[in-house]
Amino acid sequence: MEWLASVFRLIGTVLLAALAGFYFGNPLAWALVAAVLLLVFWSLQLWRLRKWLADSSGSPPDLFGVWGDIVANIYKRQRKAIATEERLQSTVDYLLDSFAAMRDGVVILEGQGALRWCNEAAQRLLALRYPDDIGQAISNIVRVPEFAEYLSTADYSVPLVFETTGEIKHHLQLVVTQFAEGDTLLFVRDVTDVVRTESIRRDFVGNVSHELRTPLTVISGYLGTFMADPDSLPAPYVRAIEQMAGQAARMENLLKDLLWLSRIESTERQDKDDKVDIAALLDELKEEVANTHPGNPLQLDIQCRTKIPGDYRELYSAVSNLVFNAFKYSSEGEPVVASWREDGDVARLDIVDTGIGIDASHFNRLTERFYRVDDSRSSATGGTGLGLAIVKHVAAAHGAHLEIDSKLGKGSTFSLVFPEQN
Ligand code: ADP
Repeated sequence: MEWLASVFRLIGTVLLAALAGFYFGNPLAWALVAAVLLLVFWSLQLWRLRKWLADSSGSPPDLFGVWGDIVANIYKRQRKAIATEERLQSTVDYLLDSFAAMRDGVVILEGQGALRWCNEAAQRLLALRYPDDIGQAISNIVRVPEFAEYLSTADYSVPLVFETTGEIKHHLQLVVTQFAEGDTLLFVRDVTDVVRTESIRRDFVGNVSHELRTPLTVISGYLGTFMADPDSLPAPYVRAIEQMAGQAARMENLLKDLLWLSRIESTERQDKDDKVDIAALLDELKEEVANTHPGNPLQLDIQCRTKIPGDYRELYSAVSNLVFNAFKYSSEGEPVVASWREDGDVARLDIVDTGIGIDASHFNRLTERFYRVDDSRSSATGGTGLGLAIVKHVAAAHGAHLEIDSKLGKGSTFSLVFPEQN
């Protein structure tokens, strides 16, 4: 114990001085002088320690006794702290290097969206200037309204795809993650090729459907003429022509749905300014159902008059798909109820049936084009397999989503859930 030895040395020196003073006849003065000298010595040590601490870059001073001990301890801790700092710095450098080398853009924002760091890809994709733009609000640099709007919402569950405003247009996908205390990490990817391929696919389906319509209309027309006077046909042809007419009608429905789907997809991003009165829409649909299902009316349960900004035709097609599915997959006479109400901060349209129901294992694939729970039941009902795909796209275009709740043998509830209307 160095400090105990120091205390003993201190007391010993004072006692020794007092003893010498005893010999010369003034022990107190000698002890006092020794104590003052010791104090001066300690002060000197303290001054050297302070000097070193003030500029600890140099090597530690060579101090005596307990002071040497203190210096050794501080020096040890200092080395340890420096080693830890170096390790942390090399980890940070490693991470920043790997971010910097990424082909995707990475941006770190702090607090209220001020730029803190970004890699080269982000500078290229978002036209950021680093380090000049440090501290600038990112929404002032990237002047795309959807970008700023998306960042200001707290919901980043679905990535944003937006178009850049520069001379050469790019489609960028933005994924946002929040970390630490209010800091934000942005990942930006160029998805121009994906968007282009998707648009080619959409146009192709739209064009093919359109081109097939004219020949099909001619075929259906002639088949209709033949069917109008079956007696004039040779007997073996009657059944064949009936079947051809049935299949031609099915194909017409399919083309109609395909064209409608590609129209909805291409207008998905456009603003929909009209206010659609869902209650009035349900009234109109009820009339249509009365013509097609005279014995089994659509039951309405309207609890609110909320209007949805959107496109009346699109919303009508989505709701009528759900309602006609409900009738299609229920037995004759089973009730179908459409209820429209506000539920907390959302508005819900539930289409409820007590029909054959669907097993939960199919739920996440139901909205895929041509997905059918059971081919035999669907071909019997004459569906195109596009109904729920249309519903999903219309919902997305209106900021809504489709919820499915169903039990095999018990019935189904398909709900369109619309966000709060301001
Ligand atoms: P389809 O034209 O075959 O009805 P949809 O896309 O409208 O195509 O529906 C996809 C599948 O979901 C249907 O084939 C059917 O099996 C199932 N389905 C849709 N609505 C209901 C419902 N109300 N009750 C039971 N099954 C349903």
